[in-house]
Amino acid sequence: MISERAKKIGESITLAITANAKKMKKNGEDVVIMASGEPDFDTPEHIKNAGIEAIKSGFTKYTTTSGIDELKNAICEKYKRDLNLVYEPSQVIVTVGGKQALFNLFLSIINPGDEVIVFRPYWVSYLEQIGFAGGVPVLAELSECVENPELLKKYITSKTKAILFNFPSNPSGYVIPEDILEKFTDIAISNDLYIVSDEVYEKFIYDGLAFKSPASFSEKSKEKTIIINALSKTYSMTGWRVGFALGAKDVIKAMGAIQGHQTSNVCSIAQKAGVVALTSSQDCVKNMVEEFAKRRAYMFERLSAIDKVKIDKPMGAFYMFPDVSAFYGGKVKNSFDFCSCLLNEEKVAIIPGIGFGADNHVRLTYSASMEDIKKGMDRFEHFCNRI
Ligand code: GLU
Repeated sequence: MISERAKKIGESITLAITANAKKMKKNGEDVVIMASGEPDFDTPEHIKNAGIEAIKSGFTKYTTTSGIDELKNAICEKYKRDLNLVYEPSQVIVTVGGKQALFNLFLSIINPGDEVIVFRPYWVSYLEQIGFAGGVPVLAELSECVENPELLKKYITSKTKAILFNFPSNPSGYVIPEDILEKFTDIAISNDLYIVSDEVYEKFIYDGLAFKSPASFSEKSKEKTIIINALSKTYSMTGWRVGFALGAKDVIKAMGAIQGHQTSNVCSIAQKAGVVALTSSQDCVKNMVEEFAKRRAYMFERLSAIDKVKIDKPMGAFYMFPDVSAFYGGKVKNSFDFCSCLLNEEKVAIIPGIGFGADNHVRLTYSASMEDIKKGMDRFEHFCNRI
């Protein structure tokens, strides 16, 4: 019999829809996939070569659970270089993608019944992960809190343990203004909450905007923030599964103890590739982000031109999150129907907003190739014009 705990866990909608679309494609159907957020770029050659070199030199054994020193040092250097934040290697853990970092972090800080404030719209896995750890996600409306940051206080109770930030946001691409982020951070600190900052899209920011981490505001905010990040998106290394967390030593240590009974270390070969990704030229990142900026402009223009589609221009990540609720009624009653019909009738795979707590919206990614985006947008427009 399946455990009650496992029964409560739903399938990841982003991964399930993508897997289904890939299967349709394999069966010969001409499907355009703009579903899972995964850069279409190949992993840069120098990073792949580092992996090959690791295999050839026999770097194929267990490593320290929390990651090899070289990689932890490279992560510390990255934070010094990019954000002027100083961390010691003992404040870093290398994890199987950002997902494992989040999962083990929640297991490390949540007691049964503890609450974690999560802004809506939220990324699909947060609620499941918090719930699995015995916590209770408390949903706060992001737009309301941005308009009036004091409102955030109304979600805080004696059981609140942490607040979760994810800017640039998946699914909306929203980048929070720095002064609002600082206000949220101050509220978290004055209530002695942990700040979980999922920063996996930090490099995907457009129109000259700069990335800001809540850890950067003060010594205190650095102390209370646990940064979650990954190489997956930044270096187009999704399959390598290298993520990491930085924060207070006791939290990182607890995460390491859990990981030691769970997956042990991240693949030794991927860790070596990760060192090269972080320590060599960052031009590959710049080039990819420049290309994404073009795709963003194109997709935004196409979506804005469709009657009844409502969209704000996202400043970051690689998603568009239009409101398509004007099409609801008849056979399309919600975001799930919208996406199912679009897939079945037009062969375009995107993600329903319901998975992110926003049923009026759907999520499209421009991490697909420009050719696919063009084809996908033609079909999307055709669909909107006929339903
Ligand atoms: N984070 C990406 C997304 O939301 C990848 C899929 C996943 O891990 O959920 O599309």
